[in-house]
Amino acid sequence: MTAKISCHDYGFDCSFVLNEPIGMGVVRKIKEHFEKEHEIDYSEEAIIQMLVNKGHSKEEIRKG
Ligand SMILES: [Zn+2]
Repeated sequence: MTAKISCHDYGFDCSFVLNEPIGMGVVRKIKEHFEKEHEIDYSEEAIIQMLVNKGHSKEEIRKG
């Protein structure tokens, strides 16, 4: 399954889009982006929850 995450969906005026296979790599990239570009320090748990809200299961995220 592919993660399709767009910062715009979360209310940011930002063109960041991630479209790649789901997994912890995606979680880290999103975390890094929020830290660098938006100065928001989300925990990995919070980002996993964002992906769960998009229809992914925690199991597929953690083993990816
Ligand atoms: Zn952004």
